[in-house]
Amino acid sequence: MHDSGSRSFNRRTVLKAGAWSLALASVSKPAFADAASGASDGIFAAEIAPGVFAHHGQVALYAPDNAGDISNCGFIVGRDAVAVIDTGGSARVGARLHSAVRSVTQLPIRYVINTHMHPDHVFGNAAFEADQPAFVGHHKLARGLSARAERYIAINKEALGEEAFAGTKIVLPTLPIAEPTTLDLGGRQIVLEPQKTAHTDNDLIVRDSQSGTLFLGDLVFSEHVPTLDGSIRGWLSLLESETKVSAARIVPGHGPASMPWPDAAKPIQHYLRTIADEVRAMIKENRSLSEATASVGLSEKSAWKLFEDYHARNVSAAFAELEWE
Ligand SMILES: [Zn+2]
Repeated sequence: MHDSGSRSFNRRTVLKAGAWSLALASVSKPAFADAASGASDGIFAAEIAPGVFAHHGQVALYAPDNAGDISNCGFIVGRDAVAVIDTGGSARVGARLHSAVRSVTQLPIRYVINTHMHPDHVFGNAAFEADQPAFVGHHKLARGLSARAERYIAINKEALGEEAFAGTKIVLPTLPIAEPTTLDLGGRQIVLEPQKTAHTDNDLIVRDSQSGTLFLGDLVFSEHVPTLDGSIRGWLSLLESETKVSAARIVPGHGPASMPWPDAAKPIQHYLRTIADEVRAMIKENRSLSEATASVGLSEKSAWKLFEDYHARNVSAAFAELEWE
């Protein structure tokens, strides 16, 4: 299951853990760098298709020892330029991703694309500012992130600690995407597809046409229990239609760096359907929110990591949405 989708490719080491220690020697203790490299096999980003690289973030909560390396990110290399997709949960993780890009190519980083507003996907943006890329996101991303900026910064600074959080700040998109848009990296077209409210109200799908790879951000979770910050109905209907789209592989927001499509969607569809069905049944029986959070979806518990951290909140969000159907 782990990284199953990438086995058919020549996995190319982007940056070995030892190189991290060297690269980070001036800003961090080598022991810390090794602990936070984020990949059990010592590489930061694997080449999951020709010119397409993805990093498998840890399945964990924000903590000093992971420096916010708790989500997937990656990059696509064209003939003329590079597009980065998500940047990790701190400037430090963003810097690692930046080094991974530079170990592969010296081409300009023209685009830094954020799949949605959550801190673990955007807090590494600061590491790319010196490259002066266009920061790209759903047209609702700037509004959503600005409204939550203060809280996101406070909570995650507290969770990471000053040292691991150093340099992290909010970098808002400069290129808002309101309709399907194609970016040209030089002989390589990247298609951006803004979505209706699902995981959040600012989810953006990134498609590399050349390799048939979809970066789905948190529209797909694997291993890590899904987190609902948008609409359970919107999310289910998006997955229903997106699973009919053919793709050679996808990069989920959490879990393996590469997964087969549409199989990768099955567990999360099952999870979301279970919650929606059981919450609707509770509402029909006039049961309370607290009764719902205590009992809905418990059959899914063994299927996901971090279940205790997020599941009750998901039920609560689904209840608030579905009681007005
Ligand atoms: Zn998210």
